[in-house]
Parts: sequence; C-alpha cells; structure tokens
Amino acid sequence: MPDPSAEQLQALLDLAGTDAAIRRLQNTMDNLPEQQQLADLGERRRALEDQHADIRLERDQVTQVARKHDRDVGQLRERLAHEQQRMYGGDITNAKELGKMEAEISAVQSRIDEHELAELEALETLEEHEEALDALEQELATLSETIRETEERRDVAASGLLAEIAEHEVVRERQRDDLDDELVARYDRSAQRSVGDAVGRLDGEDCTACGIRLSYADVNTLVDGPPLTTCPNCGRLLVVL
Ligand SMILES: [Zn+2]
Repeated sequence: MPDPSAEQLQALLDLAGTDAAIRRLQNTMDNLPEQQQLADLGERRRALEDQHADIRLERDQVTQVARKHDRDVGQLRERLAHEQQRMYGGDITNAKELGKMEAEISAVQSRIDEHELAELEALETLEEHEEALDALEQELATLSETIRETEERRDVAASGLLAEIAEHEVVRERQRDDLDDELVARYDRSAQRSVGDAVGRLDGEDCTACGIRLSYADVNTLVDGPPLTTCPNCGRLLVVL
C-alpha cells in the first residue's frame, strides 16, 4: 500500500481531534454534579431497600412466632377447660386424684401464661418492625421523588452537551467518509487498543498522543521512515509529517 497523502494524514489527525472533543464532552456529562448526586442517591436507595428487605424478613419470622404461641395458647386453653370440667364435674372424689389434677391444671395455666407473654413480646416486636417498615417506605418514597427531580435537572444540563456531541458526531462521520477505508481500519484498531488519542503526531521529538519525548535515535528512524507509523513508546499510530 502506498504511503497516505499529507492530506489524508491531516484528515486522520482531524478525526482524532473530533473524537477527543467527543470524549471530553462525554466526560463532562459523566461528571455533571447531578450525575454524581444520582450515583449517591442510587446507592442510598439500594441501602434502604436492603434494610427494608431484612426487616420484612424478620417481621415475617416474628409473625410466625406469634402465630405459633397463639395456637399453643388455644390448645392449652382447650386442655385446661377439659381438665377443669373433669375436676369440677364431680366424677372424681379421691383426694389424691384431685390433688394431682389441681397440680396439672396449675401447670397448664402457667404454660398458658408463658405462651401469652411470649406472644405479647412477639407482637410488640412485630409492631416495632411494622413502624420501621413504614418509616423506610416513607423515606424511599421521598428519595424516589428526589431522584426523579435530580434526573430532570441532569437531563436539562445534559441536553446542551448531547446537542454538542451530536454535532461532533456528524463531523466525525464526514471525516471518516473522507478517509481511505484502510486508514479508518488502522485508526479503529489503534483506538480499541488505546485510551485517549488513537493517533499522535511527531511534534519535534515528542509524540503528541503519549506526550513522551523520544530519543534522537528513534526520532531519526521515524523521520527517515514512512509518514504514518507507530510511536515506539505508546504504540499508537504516529503521523510524521
Ligand atoms: Zn506515543
């Protein structure tokens, strides 16, 4: 392939300039204060949602515990009623037998008391969880509103930048169309490999892409070589005009 013309090389540098301008605008957009705020707000929302999920899980567990105690109390009450009916029914007259039943009734009663107390404690915990969930839901709703408002402000701030980017993209398409396909392909390969400029220019002894001052030996080799080569330091395309 013959060496690209000086015109083509300039066009290549112009394309790199347009891409750099687009990157700068994109970077400005990514760093909009509203964008930063949205990142923070999103993080806060995730933390609240995690907290909400944890408390909901605990609430469900406590609900199960309260129900279990409630069922136990019900069963024990039935048993108590049955025992009391037997005791006061008049069928049992034996004093020893009656004493045993009395002890049994009293034992059932204290188990009922224990379960009732435990159920009450569970219900109190449940109420605390419900209150915490309500507060979190309230906070999440407020946060969602703040996020929505911030997104609106971000969109307003970004719209000017997006318009500028769109203009540069039109220019970029034209610049790419004006370049030989082979050059565009080399440019794209270099762009994929590198951060920042895909093509630099030899400016005195410096590569403008990496900003490094090259050795005299390298510079001499470059000057004697083809007008489009790669930088011995950064490996990016290098225009030597
Ligand atoms: Zn370089």
